[in-house]
Amino acid sequence: MSNFITTKWDVIIIGGGAAGFFAAIRCAELNPNLRVLILEKASQTLGKVLISGGGRCNVTHACFEPAKLITHYPRGGNELRGAFSRFQPKDTVEWFESRAIKLKAESDGRMFPVTDDSNTIVNCLHDSAKKAGVRVELGASVLSVEKGLKSGFKLEVRKARVEPGRNEAQVIPLQAKKLLFATGGDRKSLEIIQSFGHTISSPVPSLFTFNIKDKRINGLAGVSVEDAALKMDSISARGPLLITHWGMSGPAVLRLSAWGARILFDKKYASPLTVNWLGDYRLDTTLEILQRNKDWHENARKKIATNSAFSQIPIRLWKQLTEFIGDKNWGDVSKAELRKLAEELTAGEFKIQGKGQFKEEFVTCGGVNLKEVDFKTMQSRVVDGLFFAGEVLNIDGLTGGFNFQSAWTTGWLAGNALSADVLNG
Ligand SMILES: Cc1cc2nc3c(=O)[nH]c(=O)nc-3n(C[C@H](O)[C@H](O)[C@H](O)COP(=O)(O)OP(=O)(O)OC[C@H]3O[C@@H](n4cnc5c(N)ncnc54)[C@H](O)[C@@H]3O)c2cc1C
Repeated sequence: MSNFITTKWDVIIIGGGAAGFFAAIRCAELNPNLRVLILEKASQTLGKVLISGGGRCNVTHACFEPAKLITHYPRGGNELRGAFSRFQPKDTVEWFESRAIKLKAESDGRMFPVTDDSNTIVNCLHDSAKKAGVRVELGASVLSVEKGLKSGFKLEVRKARVEPGRNEAQVIPLQAKKLLFATGGDRKSLEIIQSFGHTISSPVPSLFTFNIKDKRINGLAGVSVEDAALKMDSISARGPLLITHWGMSGPAVLRLSAWGARILFDKKYASPLTVNWLGDYRLDTTLEILQRNKDWHENARKKIATNSAFSQIPIRLWKQLTEFIGDKNWGDVSKAELRKLAEELTAGEFKIQGKGQFKEEFVTCGGVNLKEVDFKTMQSRVVDGLFFAGEVLNIDGLTGGFNFQSAWTTGWLAGNALSADVLNG
């Protein structure tokens, strides 16, 4: 029943995602003599690439300085510094360009295929793997891995065989001289890796929106400010903020969710949140501006609710933030009310009451401890011949193409090392 050509392979890659494919292609292109196999438990490979970036695939980010690039990684930045000096977004662009796939950068730096279609990337990776002679097995779930007595690895693989009228599976033993885990956030795979003596930080979600029920933002879904500053515990983030039906989203919120992923998980996604709707405005400056507005004679008889002091705050939001003052004219607002408004604008207190999903991109933080991996080769420092690439590592990036970039980079580095003459011939 087995449709594996052989049970003995030079290189087995567990996981047919971005990192697994990139590693397999690099390895097989550098050393065409190697027998390279990708095992993918799902019925299709590159599933996340296909749905990524809202179906457009945000392949990478137009940030070409490794030192700057690493600031976009809440976890893994330090370790990626050297890795990005070997393979960075410029190399990703060239890699795809050398295969006739052009990428374009949008004004915020995100890079997509010019076709705006993730199929372009998926097809390119499939074609490149096929051309390089990489074998891909679908419905092949790795159940267990053992280190051989001298070298190499023994795997137990559950291979599903779905045919009309038949739905069977068989457990097949395979052997590999070198093994790469490119299994993303898969928990079972992390358990196997742990059984080899690796330390794993438990996977928790990163990049999510905040559920906040608060009358100050009630009914304002779709309203946004260009530059808000958020604070939660010791973590802060800045950028555009979007009010949604459920609470808050937008780049500032996503950044905070990534940097604070573990803290928020520990707090069960219930935490105070401070919002400065004016970005970096301080309380005293804001109070001065409010006072000037009050003192300006033309304002004296104008309603505060409909005459904002700050053009950067949309009027509907201003109306709700000033609601506590009531139906007063600027001239009638008390000193205490002005101060409270300045506090509201620069340090509004909200409560995160849960997390929502950011549909464009989703990652987990957590995974293999980075100290236990050599970032020149992506080889384990614990077990010879064992490699890691992609999200299985305790690396995650902000939204914007940074997550795929770390998958391409670590996959490429692993591919280099996997292609070198295999242990014991
Ligand atoms: C909706 C969505 C949109 C996204 N959009 C973007 C974007 O536009 N830009 C960006 O940079 N990032 C994006 N990301 C994040 C990005 O997709 C991931 O960071 C990236 O796919 C990680 O690649 P990977 O190869 O490490 O892991 P994965 O893509 O998760 O691949 C791992 C593979 O291993 C397989 N596997 C796991 N365990 C086993 C096993 N035991 N046996 C066999 N197979 C196994 C899994 O089935 C899976 O196919 C998005 C994520 C999501 C969910």
